[in-house]
Amino acid sequence: MENKQPSIIDLLIETHVGLERQGPGSTETTCKALGFLGNLEQISNTADLGCGSGPQTMELARHLSGSIVGLDMFSDFIGVLNENADKQGVGDRVRGIVGSMDDLPFEEESLDLIWSEGAIDNIGFEKGLAHWRGFLKKGGYLAVTCPSWLTAEHPAVIEGFWSDAGSGLDSVEHNVAILQACGYRFIASFALPEYCWTEKYFVPREAVLEELLKKYPDDETVEAFVAENRYEVDLYSKYGQHYGYVFYIGQKL
Ligand code: SAM
Repeated sequence: MENKQPSIIDLLIETHVGLERQGPGSTETTCKALGFLGNLEQISNTADLGCGSGPQTMELARHLSGSIVGLDMFSDFIGVLNENADKQGVGDRVRGIVGSMDDLPFEEESLDLIWSEGAIDNIGFEKGLAHWRGFLKKGGYLAVTCPSWLTAEHPAVIEGFWSDAGSGLDSVEHNVAILQACGYRFIASFALPEYCWTEKYFVPREAVLEELLKKYPDDETVEAFVAENRYEVDLYSKYGQHYGYVFYIGQKL
């Protein structure tokens, strides 16, 4: 029997739901960012926004003893997070919910920590920081990754790729100034190393793309989807020294 023709959203979910991560990152960089926060024992309420299937949510759960809510727009990803939380015996304090990062369902000033890896650029760095601040307690922490320029040279092809994807790139200095203007004390920033893109994300994703091409033979939507994903890899291999995900860590003033 032939497989039904998938939409781009179907393909996005089908590609990513079985992957360990849905974007560049790693356990090591999640832990490095956590290392910049103060006393972890005092963190009792955390939200992980755009959590995907929750690789970093589960890592946070290993270091924090309080409650952690992962939020994502796709129920398939949230299903995986909740299954993993149950399997690892932390389902009573780690839960995934479906929701939107620009309309958070939390009480004002209720969170000690807002975490977000690879997601804030979907709503805009400044808009996200401004909206999320209201949900943090005074002194609460924020740790987010956002694609950023790493050099003064900004290749037009990269500029075009990211703006077509709906998010622009800014320099680290610019983003730090935005973070401060949004009412946070700047604590630290660091760029994710290359293996967070390649080994942790592109390589496992490519294996799934190969399977998609076999599953949906001669499907133009699938071919275009795979080509776009491979183009992203190609761009990163050529221009990756100029841009990357940067972790920004701050504290609500
Ligand atoms: N944090 C995960 C990781 O690092 O593997 C997932 C990162 S993935 C690049 C971005 C995630 O943001 C996706 O899971 C996507 O569904 C979610 N997302 C994008 N826009 C969103 C929105 N407006 N509200 C909630 N989730 C959103």
